[in-house]
Amino acid sequence: MSAAWRREHPLPAPCRMRYTCGMNPTEIVQASSSEEAARKLLLDICWAGGRRFCPRCGGDRLYGLSGGRHRCAGCKYTFQDFAGRWINNGGLPADAWLRLVTLFAAEATAHQMAGELGLSYNATYKAVTTLRFAILAHAPDARQLLGPETGLGAYLKGRKLTGLPSSHGRGPVPVFGILERNGWVFIDLVSGLSAETVFHFNHSFHLRIERAGYLVHTAPYRQYDALVLSGDDSLPYEYIRKVETPPSQRREGVFTRYAVERIKAFKGVSPQRFPLYLKELEFRYNHRGEALEPLLLRYLCDMVPDMEFRHP
Ligand SMILES: [Zn+2]
Repeated sequence: MSAAWRREHPLPAPCRMRYTCGMNPTEIVQASSSEEAARKLLLDICWAGGRRFCPRCGGDRLYGLSGGRHRCAGCKYTFQDFAGRWINNGGLPADAWLRLVTLFAAEATAHQMAGELGLSYNATYKAVTTLRFAILAHAPDARQLLGPETGLGAYLKGRKLTGLPSSHGRGPVPVFGILERNGWVFIDLVSGLSAETVFHFNHSFHLRIERAGYLVHTAPYRQYDALVLSGDDSLPYEYIRKVETPPSQRREGVFTRYAVERIKAFKGVSPQRFPLYLKELEFRYNHRGEALEPLLLRYLCDMVPDMEFRHP
């Protein structure tokens, strides 16, 4: 990392909270100085207590093979140390993952990260998308978010991320509801409410809509502080009706303003990618004031959910 970057993005003070892995951001930066130290840190997180098990059947009778691989005595599956985990996607060396997580925690853009890490934009973007998927997969409503309403689960096959959601192209436009309560934020995928219906509420029932490009957020609706969606050309944006509300009567929550400003800075997020960005913002907001790096590494080191064995 360059000196200029460090000056602009000072590291947070070491977190006093104890994590299962006992890490703080300074240790992560130190471990990122060599591939060996970085790999050891990641292995310690993946295999807590040093106990290894088969990612396919969970069995712990394993044989060591050449090249650091293992074979399960039960199901005969052969695997390497990071098999089946989020961190196994993207092909980055261990030290690059640690540096990427530090940069992501400081809200660097993918372009800035690519420059700092000496990687191509595409490789960096793929790794960042993996990180966003890992965050989403740890949300309480991950099961719903990886279901058919977003289409995101279709990218997970055999505990691997296969392909990335499109930056354009049509698909379902999910509608999300933002709930802010006691300093916590919950972003729900609102089932059964289409983007067209939100536009209809605006047109026929004067639900206030604010638009920034394809991003739309509304005035409070039912239990939600706002509905939010990021659509595409298939939606009738030209029919949005201006509903004047005096600023004193607006009840826009702190998080809604925070989220809208950040999403606007991305200059358009496709409907397919939108849930990943929203869940990242929910994560950042609910962990504000904490060091994010240890948590992000723990998420990355967790297993990718096995979508093929999920039942509705
Ligand atoms: Zn096995």
